[in-house]
Amino acid sequence: MSTAEEFWARVEKTDGCWLWRGGNRGNGYGTFWVDKKRYYAHRYAYFLTHGYMPQGIILHACDTPSCVRPSHLSDGTPADNVSDMWSKGRGKPPPVLVGEAHPHTRLTDATVLHIRQQYASGQYSQRRLARTYGMNHASIGAIVRHETWRHVGGPHPTKAAA
Ligand SMILES: [Zn+2]
Repeated sequence: MSTAEEFWARVEKTDGCWLWRGGNRGNGYGTFWVDKKRYYAHRYAYFLTHGYMPQGIILHACDTPSCVRPSHLSDGTPADNVSDMWSKGRGKPPPVLVGEAHPHTRLTDATVLHIRQQYASGQYSQRRLARTYGMNHASIGAIVRHETWRHVGGPHPTKAAA
C-alpha cells in the first residue's frame, strides 16, 4: 500500500466533511505518521493533493478540525499577514508539530524538486513560487537555475518559462 493509500484508508468520507479516523492529538486535529515524522492529517491531505506543504496555516472552510477533505482546505499563506494578526492579539497561532513546514523551515529535497517542476511547467512565475514557499525571489531563482541544491536534480528551466 502506498503512503497515500494508507492515508485515505483512514478517512471516512461523508457528503460534507471527510473525517480523519486515524490518530489525533487530543485537540481535534488528526495526525499521521510518515517516516517517523508526525504530520497533521489535514496538512498531509493538502500535501497529497497539491504536492507541497503550505508554509503557513491551512484554513478549514468547514471549521471541522478533523476534516481532511481537500476542497475544504486552503493555504493560509501569506504567513506574514497571519503572524501580523497574532501579534495584534487576534486569532491564535496554528498548531505546529516538530518537523512541520512553517515559515522558517528549511527546504527539503522533495520541496526543491517540486519547485523546479512547477517552474518548468511554465505555469508558475518565480515571484509566485517565492510567495507560495515563503522565500525571497533570489532564492527561488537560484533553485530553478540549479545554482543551489544541485544534488536534487529535476527539470531545468525551459526558454519559454525563463
Ligand atoms: Zn470539512
